[in-house]
Amino acid sequence: MALITKAIKGTQDTLPGDSYKVKFLEATLSDIAGNYGFREIRTPVFEHTELFNRSVGDTTDVVQKEMYTFDDKGGRSITLRPEGTAGAVRAFLEHGLFNEPTPMKVYYLTSCYRYEKPQAGRLREFHQFGVECFGTSSPAEDAEVIALADEVFGFLGVKGLELQINSIGCPHCRPLYQQALKDYFTAHKEELCETCRDRLERNPMRIIDCKEESDELKDNAPVVLDYLCEECSDHFEKVKQYLEAMGLAYTVNPRIVRGLDYYTKTVFEFVSHDIGAQGTVCGGGRYDGLCEELGDKSIPALGFGMGIERLLLLLEAQGIELPKPDDMELYIASAGDNASLKAAAIVHDLRAEGIACGFDTVGRSIKAQMKYANKMGSAFTVVLGDNELESGTVRLKYMETGETQDMALETFAEDFPQIAVQAAMAALQKELNTGEGDLANVDLSALLGGNTTWTE
Ligand code: ATP
Ligand code: MG
Repeated sequence: MALITKAIKGTQDTLPGDSYKVKFLEATLSDIAGNYGFREIRTPVFEHTELFNRSVGDTTDVVQKEMYTFDDKGGRSITLRPEGTAGAVRAFLEHGLFNEPTPMKVYYLTSCYRYEKPQAGRLREFHQFGVECFGTSSPAEDAEVIALADEVFGFLGVKGLELQINSIGCPHCRPLYQQALKDYFTAHKEELCETCRDRLERNPMRIIDCKEESDELKDNAPVVLDYLCEECSDHFEKVKQYLEAMGLAYTVNPRIVRGLDYYTKTVFEFVSHDIGAQGTVCGGGRYDGLCEELGDKSIPALGFGMGIERLLLLLEAQGIELPKPDDMELYIASAGDNASLKAAAIVHDLRAEGIACGFDTVGRSIKAQMKYANKMGSAFTVVLGDNELESGTVRLKYMETGETQDMALETFAEDFPQIAVQAAMAALQKELNTGEGDLANVDLSALLGGNTTWTE
């Protein structure tokens, strides 16, 4: 296939038949984040390369192997964001958001770029939902952030996700652990990949996160929890207590060190066993030193990133369907120039009333137009020709049952919205009656009556 009609390796198009899923997820995630007090932040797709070197860390896989970095025409080194936290923290510092009441909470829905080997659940352009919370070092916030992610999965009906937590200490206790790792890995230096030999000196903890090394080698390495200082271990215990108080099940996995350098204390992942090797749907943790590192402001913070594509894979693997948007409500099939003009006018008026409707803009036969209306799932149709224009009456057809109703053409645009609402209510009532639980007995007309402007 010619290059210009082929997307770049590791990128994906979201086609019209699927985009409703992403839109539904975005709306759901925004809603849930809002309930937890998070407001949206949007930051540029590229930043100074130095920002990621300093935050993500120059011994990480992300910085060493995965970033899309280039010089712009002004000679600046620019990097497409490989993750969302660095940009959010940069904006937080740059705009003095630390002056706002704390905790200061933001969320984002954003694209990320990593030069990785494309495979199921691993793309070069992917999307993340992420949250960041600034200004509290309390373990209650760690639990709150974890609870938010958990609620997303619960709301969507995802089953079987395992919440794994760990603590990777702080600048007081981590050096002890790094030393223990250095001793251990030095004894196994010949088994290490080239990058990790370099890491041995600079940041041995990174070796635990390296995908090149054998599981056996990593599994036998010293465990970080054995090296935590009192403050870190106390913090970790309290996080567990909060999780228990909220009824969130977790397992402690001392092997999680996360692939980004900025983490301190709590780290966590939500892992699925249903989507293959790339099972981590969400990962996050505390980064109490990052604001200091980037902006000389000592502000504790934490957050997580959730992979949207992996979440979609998981929903698909578990057969969870997301609600489809409503189909077209009305299609006006027309024959002849005058009828077409009238159809255009009615459709225009109805759309202004919020009705999803359509008319022929191709010049098809009535039969072909009706076929199209069917494909669009239009609930109602009308045929408009010379006869209808002359008589001033159109026949509205309810496609599901074949029922028809004659209506005055002159007032059709005013009268139809009422019929559309009635039909929607009847469909809802039917759904509730066939559904389970107490909702089946709800008197819908009483419920909706007060909120509608069209009374009979
Ligand atoms: P992994 O171990 O799978 O490489 P990671 O530790 O690099 O993940 P993070 O940097 O923590 O991932 O990013 C948070 C989330 O973003 C991941 O849990 C995952 O859901 C998603 N993610 C990360 N990299 C990719 C990618 N290349 N393609 C798709 N989703 C990704
Ligand atoms: Mg990775």
